[in-house]
Amino acid sequence: MIPFNQPAVTGNEEAYLIQAVRNRKISGDGRFTQLCHQWIEKTFQCPKALLTPSCTHALEMSAVLMDISLGDEVIMPSYTFSSTANAFALHGAKIVFVDIRPDTMNIDERLIEQAINPKTKAIVVVHYAGVACEMDAIMDLAERYGLFVVEDAAQGVMSKYKGRPLGTIGHFGCYSFHETKNYTSGEGGALLINDRRFAERAEVVREKGTNRKQFLQGQVDKYSWVDIGSSFLPSELNAAYLYAQFEKSEEINADRLSSWDFYYSELSALEKAEKIKRPFIPEDCQHNGHMFYIKVNDIKERSDFIDYLKNNGVMAVFHYVPLHSSKAGQKVGTFFGKDQYTTRESERLVRLPMFYGLTKDSIKYITECIKSFYETAAG
Ligand SMILES: *Cc1c(COP(=O)(O)O)cnc(C)c1O
Repeated sequence: MIPFNQPAVTGNEEAYLIQAVRNRKISGDGRFTQLCHQWIEKTFQCPKALLTPSCTHALEMSAVLMDISLGDEVIMPSYTFSSTANAFALHGAKIVFVDIRPDTMNIDERLIEQAINPKTKAIVVVHYAGVACEMDAIMDLAERYGLFVVEDAAQGVMSKYKGRPLGTIGHFGCYSFHETKNYTSGEGGALLINDRRFAERAEVVREKGTNRKQFLQGQVDKYSWVDIGSSFLPSELNAAYLYAQFEKSEEINADRLSSWDFYYSELSALEKAEKIKRPFIPEDCQHNGHMFYIKVNDIKERSDFIDYLKNNGVMAVFHYVPLHSSKAGQKVGTFFGKDQYTTRESERLVRLPMFYGLTKDSIKYITECIKSFYETAAG
């Protein structure tokens, strides 16, 4: 069986975990956490990065820092994971879903402006498959209307838009280090604080609303509860594992991109024959090989396709059921305008196995299975 995903292991994870244990410091913000913060800040030229227990937590921290509260509205695509919406719904915001572009599956930047009203506080973009949203247009809108922009860059670590790393363009950027993502600590994430006004408060919010950080730095002589907050810092064990992956980031990235390119070329004939569609990467976007998906004709064909691959030992999966048609989404949000592409395109999308170390032989086998599906089963 070729699995859909396998978490990356690059060599130093075990040694760093042992070091963390021997350092006798396994709660948050030890040496490995500092190394991870520095790595993100240096690699992506970001003013401040903080590890969090997950991307979900990073998104929620951004909600706290923006003072999201009852009556606020937050604009985002419906084609995303529940976490993107939960973070803001938990703090009372109404979620306003906007349609996606069929080519990248990202929020359609041209439809955002109509959804803005005086209650709108933020735009949350999702860089689907590590391919950037049209950030110039979105940042321009945000500036004109005085809105915050949060990048859900869970899938976009190491990707770029016009040469700028994803996660560093909006006011906040959120990364995921879940085991299904390119770089992992099992469960993990990071908040990138690109607007320096929030840097100091972010430390407080992350430490249960206390000024513990200032205390540790000797700036105050006792620490106390000074703001609302939560426990938004991960254990050193997670950071130790993650740092080993950061050190091999170029290797992981190159490996994934080479798998992606191989899938892309092996499937070109099927696209020419109009059986499937391959992903589209706009010229301004440098992606990170997070995901290789194809689009089939419709939901019925997709389910036959997934079964066919499974019977041939290949795990392919579909992705999000749009949030606006889910039970919770109907309660906390509304779809603004027409759902022209969100439902239709989401029903056509299938994700193929993609992970660090996936072999060319495996990809060859998978793409041969896909070809035989279209020659036989689907005709
Ligand atoms: C994976 C993912 C998340 C959640 O990440 P966690 O680290 O598991 O919280 C959020 N948004 C998107 C788009 C994701 O792909």
